[in-house]
Amino acid sequence: MATVEQQPQAAQNGGGNAIAVENPATGETIAHVPNRSADEVAELAARARRAQRGWEAISFDGRAAIMDGMRRWLVRNRDRVIRTIVDETGKPPEDALVAELFITTDEIKFWNKKAKKYLADEKVRPNSLFTLGKKMYVRYRPYGVVGVIGPWNYPLSNSFGDCVPALMAGNTVVLKPSEVTPLTALLCEEGMREAGAPDDVFLVATGDGATGAAVVDAVDMVHFTGSTRTGRKVMQKAAETLTPVTLELGGKDPMIVLSDADLERAANAAVWHGFMNGGQTCISVERVYVEEPVYDEFVSKIVQKTKALRQGPPGAPGSVDIGAVTFAPQSDIIERHVNDAVEKGARVVVGGKRREGQGRFFEPTVLVDVDHSMQCMTEETFGPTLPIMKVRDAEEALKLANDTRYGLSSSLWTKDLGRGEELANRIEAGATCVNDINTNYAATDLPMGGWKESGMGVRHSAAGIRKYCHGHSVLVTRVGPKREINYFPYKRGVSKALDRVLVMLHRPGRPK
Ligand code: NDP
Repeated sequence: MATVEQQPQAAQNGGGNAIAVENPATGETIAHVPNRSADEVAELAARARRAQRGWEAISFDGRAAIMDGMRRWLVRNRDRVIRTIVDETGKPPEDALVAELFITTDEIKFWNKKAKKYLADEKVRPNSLFTLGKKMYVRYRPYGVVGVIGPWNYPLSNSFGDCVPALMAGNTVVLKPSEVTPLTALLCEEGMREAGAPDDVFLVATGDGATGAAVVDAVDMVHFTGSTRTGRKVMQKAAETLTPVTLELGGKDPMIVLSDADLERAANAAVWHGFMNGGQTCISVERVYVEEPVYDEFVSKIVQKTKALRQGPPGAPGSVDIGAVTFAPQSDIIERHVNDAVEKGARVVVGGKRREGQGRFFEPTVLVDVDHSMQCMTEETFGPTLPIMKVRDAEEALKLANDTRYGLSSSLWTKDLGRGEELANRIEAGATCVNDINTNYAATDLPMGGWKESGMGVRHSAAGIRKYCHGHSVLVTRVGPKREINYFPYKRGVSKALDRVLVMLHRPGRPK
């Protein structure tokens, strides 16, 4: 078990103040990891800072060679990596394979190929009389030490995955994994060592919220993935030291199904992406709006498909579809949302309760007769629930989809592609798929990030690596006069000439 392999490392790094790691599918304690103090975090950051110059100096190609070694290490050790993820999250191995291992290895390959291009000097052309003939460019320079703070739902892809572009940009990284799922991060530390990363280039600070806060204090830039509530705290803390942050936060993603949609495909997508990873995905389907003429048919497909799902402790691949609730307090939130909906008139047509017996499970649950007075339609549930609401038409669906403080992802289903795109462009979210779901996450050149309370900044795309860098603007005058025309002393004749040039260039009487 991951536990046994991780325990010596945990003990070695430990100290008395250890955190117990639980397998949520069995309830067993599987490891203990150190709860790092603020002083220990500061020491880790100091080590990372000392290692940074050397790491930056080995160039993109040198870093890509090591990260490629890590990619191959992950694939060679995939059984162990998957087992560790499964043990600490309770998810089925398929969710670990596809949404963690595939995504992360693809991302490493992507950044190895694209980092150099995205961070190459950007030549800038003169746009002003005063910059004619100057050489100008933007250089992207690493911040130094980046702190990545990760959540418990994707301990590989949303924790180590976000370290990859930071490292490729020439930063060293201190990763603070969730205290609920720290073992995968420790495994990555081992992988990076074996891939040949120099000492202290990638360090893991296991611990609780206080450890996360200490990371914010100790590093030069923070990328945070987690809840909106904690994201606010991170931003507040970062404000004390004016440390730049990017935040990938919660979501309440809508799915809109129009009456001309391929209902079979839409229903399969809703069930998969509503319940995949136990619904514990920031971009999972959290609410569905279906046009009246196809509502009954759509609901009946969802009910039939949900009833066929197999849930239980993850065993061999192919044995279950839905695993456990990873984080204990999450069960209370899911239950509260279901109960609140029922009290306000909703009906549970599948599931609706915790599973009795060993481990922590909540049944895949379908809710109908829901509306926006209910928490299940307005607050992030982050569990295996699929509330489905009947709407008059696309306009009503759009209005309801945008009636939220979140704006992470979304999807719209119709055979009329032109109309689909036109409606998609009116959804207030970081991403919208038409006739697809979640696949935009695998398109690493598409920015992935949230609007409103779903975050700020993006992962993936050029912006997803430039965020780990200072932009340094450089202007070079190769040959210049002893005194520029606008320097002292100011002279009446020169001012008049400049005034004439201004009017000539901008022609105030002629609108453009
Ligand atoms: P939390 O916000 O509870 O925790 C996220 C991380 O922050 C954990 O490592 C946590 O440590 C740490 N932390 C807690 N308090 C502080 C603090 N004061 N300062 C700094 N760090 C702190 O989120 P969850 O782990 O519960 O993750 C689930 C949430 O993440 C969901 O809301 C989900 O939508 C969101 N998410 C967003 C994604 C996106 O890309 N937008 C992707 C995946 C998830 P500890 O665990 O030890 O308390």
